Amino acid sequence: MNRKGLLVVISGFAGAGKGTVIGKLTEQYEGYSLSISATSRSPRPGEKEGVNYFFKSRAEFEKMIANNELLEYAEYVSNYYGTPRAFVEKELASGRNVLLEIEIQGAMQIKKAFPHAVLIFILPPSAEELKRRLTGRGTETEDVIISRMKRAVEESQGIEEYDYIVVNGSSDKCAEELHGIINAAAHTPERNSAFIERIRRELKEQ
Ligand code: 5GP
Repeated sequence: MNRKGLLVVISGFAGAGKGTVIGKLTEQYEGYSLSISATSRSPRPGEKEGVNYFFKSRAEFEKMIANNELLEYAEYVSNYYGTPRAFVEKELASGRNVLLEIEIQGAMQIKKAFPHAVLIFILPPSAEELKRRLTGRGTETEDVIISRMKRAVEESQGIEEYDYIVVNGSSDKCAEELHGIINAAAHTPERNSAFIERIRRELKEQ
């Protein structure tokens, strides 16, 4: 079925383990490209330019917005985050599935602009487990953990906007489930209209 790749949005609370799961998906399965976002926030210790993010000043980011270089963008906790357009378009055209790890405001922009995008929300097995994971990082103060848990309450209001939810109990299992969902979504008729048209044409010609 020779077609363009799928645009896949993955969202989830801080501490839900999105990063690990996406890492497994791209390493263990073929045909995925991960989009690297631009952000105006400062790098955290260990983060690398062009690997974790493209780090920009607010002015540079606003220039990218003005030049229409972003597929979507949002302001989140006083910083800009956005998806560079060129990379995504190139990868989709070459038939690869492109993963966007973005928050809900951006996810809603993608849903509107790309009706065939697949939106997936990753959930922790329980709130208790989420708190345990946030605490286990050992880098966050109690105040930060409480504010992340409050944000999770807010973000949980938007879950029904997504097409699929996946519970991340183990990252291997979760990556396998994600791959299954994406694969199934790639086979719906509305995402394969060009192929269906071709078959119809060929049938008439026979
Ligand atoms: P962090 O600062 O912890 O790396 O990311 C904060 C939030 O921004 C996360 O929910 C992450 O998914 C989201 N995010 C990262 N890149 C983008 C992006 O390009 N667009 C949008 N809308 N959100 C993003």
